[in-house]
This record gives sequence, structure tokens and C-alpha cells, in this order.
Amino acid sequence: MIDLHTHSLHSDGTTTPEENVALAAAEGLAGMALTDHDTLAGWEPAAHACERAGMRFVPGLELSCEWNGLSVHLLGYWVDPGDQALLAECERLRGERERRAREILGLLAHHGVEIAFEDVRRRAGAAPIGRPHIAAAMVEAGAVPDIDTAFDRWLADGGPAYARKRALAPVDGVRLIREAGGVAVLAHPGLSSNVTPELAAALAAAGLAGIEAEHAAHEPEQVGRWTAVAARHGLVVTGASDFHGERKDVRIGQAATPVARVERLRAHCPQARPV
Ligand code: AMP
Ligand code: FE
Ligand code: FE
Ligand code: ZN
Repeated sequence: MIDLHTHSLHSDGTTTPEENVALAAAEGLAGMALTDHDTLAGWEPAAHACERAGMRFVPGLELSCEWNGLSVHLLGYWVDPGDQALLAECERLRGERERRAREILGLLAHHGVEIAFEDVRRRAGAAPIGRPHIAAAMVEAGAVPDIDTAFDRWLADGGPAYARKRALAPVDGVRLIREAGGVAVLAHPGLSSNVTPELAAALAAAGLAGIEAEHAAHEPEQVGRWTAVAARHGLVVTGASDFHGERKDVRIGQAATPVARVERLRAHCPQARPV
């Protein structure tokens, strides 16, 4: 089995890529993907650690897109790390995330919750700023007891301190990933109210290769519903933990994808090589 969705300190996780690989090895996984938000920064250390552990490495990213004012996440695997269009979009998103973090902090301040931008920036380090970094700063400041409360009360999509991140429509995100030589998979469709079977059909027509129906946070009913959508369009069903270190109550390998299905995904690459 291969866990096709994990985060590290290179975005909003709390572990190094090497630590993710060690956790994956301890679970007995055959391989692991690193899919940080809007960056390829952790690929090298993850690839080396997988090589040392005798595991397969699936290089990935989780590309931020936007649909009807809410985010949609696409997983892109095996993209060319030198693709200028993809790198430019990641760079643009990094700037957009900074702008949007300041907007969120402004909304929080309006509600009497004062968090300094520099505090959030320091917490994110070199990583693109995500809402979990803001949530962690809020916990530290004593504004909320924990990360979940920060989201439930303030930061969740549509919440009082929610701010949009301007991003590509998901159909264009699928094209960007494909033109970068990669394979696109729709992440955790059951977790976003704006992701519908109709959107999945449009993405399939644009070249989507898979749907993450077996996401660790999906209820059995959501797994069934999105597996049926995948079958309708001939898409590969993937499974993954969406590990975020301490920031989410899930372990690497809690859900994962059989190697044979990863091979089927890989075959969608313009220049297919073995996994
Ligand atoms: P952003 O990329 O800044 O839009 O933040 C999205 C990230 O926030 C997701 O990748 C998750 O890591 C986290 N997240 C989103 N919704 C929640 C939630 N309700 N509770 C905890 N974490 C969440
Ligand atoms: Fe995240
Ligand atoms: Fe996501
Ligand atoms: Zn994720």
C-alpha cells in the first residue's frame, strides 16, 4: 500500500519529510507521496529517505484551486519540477496566501482577536502560509483552546474570519498539472460542500485521472458515493491519510492505495515510467 497524501513542514504539517517516511516505513507501507500545499520543496529529502528505506516515493503537491468562492484541492503527482507554468502558479499562490493571511488577521482583529502577522510568518517559516499556521498562533495566544475550535469558530470556509484565496478554477488546475507532465486527482471530495458529481464530470472531461474517495476523514457513505462517481468516469480510486503531523488526528497509512492502483495512475502520465 502507498499513502498518496501527506504534508510536512514544507506546508502546514509539523514533521519533516524524513519523519513522514520513517512513519510510513514503521506502518509497513510500500511507498509514500509527499503532497505539500502549492510547493515541491520537500521532494528531495523525501525521495532520499524513501530510497534509504527501500520504499517507493511518489512526488506530489496539493494545488489550491477555487470554485464558487470556496477552495477545491487537486493532488498532482509526478509533475516536472522544472515546469515554469506550474512553478509560477505556486509562486503566485505563495504571495496570495500572504495577502489573504493579512486579510484573515484583519477580520480577527475586527472581532477583538489580535494576532500579529509576524507571529504567523515565523510559525510558517519558509512554507506557504496556511490557515493551520494562523490557528496555531491563535491557540498560542490563548484566543482558542485548540486548532479545531479555531476552525469551527473562526477560520472554516464561510466562517467569520474566512477570506478567499484567489486561485485557478479546478478545470484549469487539472490542465496545469497535465501540461506539467503530471497526473491530477481530486482530493477529499466529501469534505468540500462545493465539490459535486457535476464538477467531477467536468474535471474528468479535462483529464482528471483519479478521485480520493478513500480519504481517511470520509464517512463510509462518502466513500461509496465518490467511488461510484469514479467508476462512472473510469477514474482510479485513491486512498490516503492526509497526514498533517500534530495538527490532525490521523496517522500515516490510516488509509492508503494498493500499489496496482498507483501503477494505473502512473500510466496516465504523458511520459509513463514505472512507479
Ligand atoms: P488553507 O490552505 O490556508 O486554505 O488551509 C486549508 C488547510 O486547513 C487544510 O489543508 C487543512 O490542513 C486545514 N483545515 C481545513 N479545514 C479544517 C478544519 N475544519 N479543521 C481543522 N483543519 C482544517
Ligand atoms: Fe493542509
Ligand atoms: Fe486538502
Ligand atoms: Zn492535504
